[in-house]
Amino acid sequence: MRLPWLTAPAEALGLALDSERLGHAPLIHGPSGLGKIELARWLVARVLCLDSDGRAPCGTCRSCTLLKSGTHPDLFTAAIPEDRQQIPVDAVRDLCRGLQLTPAIGRRRVGWIEPAEAMNRNAANALLKTLEEPSPGTWLVLVSHQPERLPATIRSRCQQICVQPPSPDTAMAWLSKECPDQTEQQLTVALTAAGGAPVRALELLRDDGLAVGLEIRDTLLKLAQARPVAAAIAEEWAAHPARSWGWIAHWVHQWTGQMMGVCPRSQRCPLPASVSPETLARLWQQALEGRQLVQTTVRADLLLGKWLLEWVASFQGER
Ligand SMILES: [Zn+2]
Repeated sequence: MRLPWLTAPAEALGLALDSERLGHAPLIHGPSGLGKIELARWLVARVLCLDSDGRAPCGTCRSCTLLKSGTHPDLFTAAIPEDRQQIPVDAVRDLCRGLQLTPAIGRRRVGWIEPAEAMNRNAANALLKTLEEPSPGTWLVLVSHQPERLPATIRSRCQQICVQPPSPDTAMAWLSKECPDQTEQQLTVALTAAGGAPVRALELLRDDGLAVGLEIRDTLLKLAQARPVAAAIAEEWAAHPARSWGWIAHWVHQWTGQMMGVCPRSQRCPLPASVSPETLARLWQQALEGRQLVQTTVRADLLLGKWLLEWVASFQGER
């Protein structure tokens, strides 16, 4: 495995498959940025491989080759269409129909649903029958970044596989290998902002994300001091709403931690004006909600503008 913290879960899945202990519907879930999709793809390859040595997919058999080229006839996928925000019922029906067919290559078929929480209610209902009465040799692999959004009827019929963040030492060792030019402090800031998820930290470091994050922090500090900032800031941040909300939530959370005395000294960056931890906790909650709403049709710039006004007002009230 490219990601060292996935080696143990991959081995456990392989063992479960070989000893017929792997449920027919594994639900791989956990926070974003841990490589869940990579683990799930590995599992699909391991299930479909015709010549595995009992550890990993061989990578060269007919099945592995077809998987790599994205044309495996026994892999059926339900995904979010480009012009939509949910997995529609038709996609799930097609997948279920595909899983009824006789396998073209080996003896196994796999259905793939990612992100599973994007199934709308009808789509989830359409999946229930296949989940309840799977045909032999059929696996449904679901990947979810927010399993709490899945209906309980789906969750309870799946075998839950939770991917956990690696230890900070493992994460830092991997990150510093991936980003040899970054200082340890930069890596630590990115890893903390990513909630300990190394792949997410790498993304933050790669697309200038850390610079954006620090700019967001400085802007919030300026606003807290009632210093002027560019009027177009909310619009600018709204261009990448998920990233912006992520950073906002991160900094507000960190400032809350600082006030409660639970933030490591190396990461401290005090707020210039006083504000109660309760107010910060409320703003943090709102930022998390903002991040959730990114997936809906709510206008990102309006939502951010409203939050920023509240942020400014919280400091005016308490100065
Ligand atoms: Zn193979």
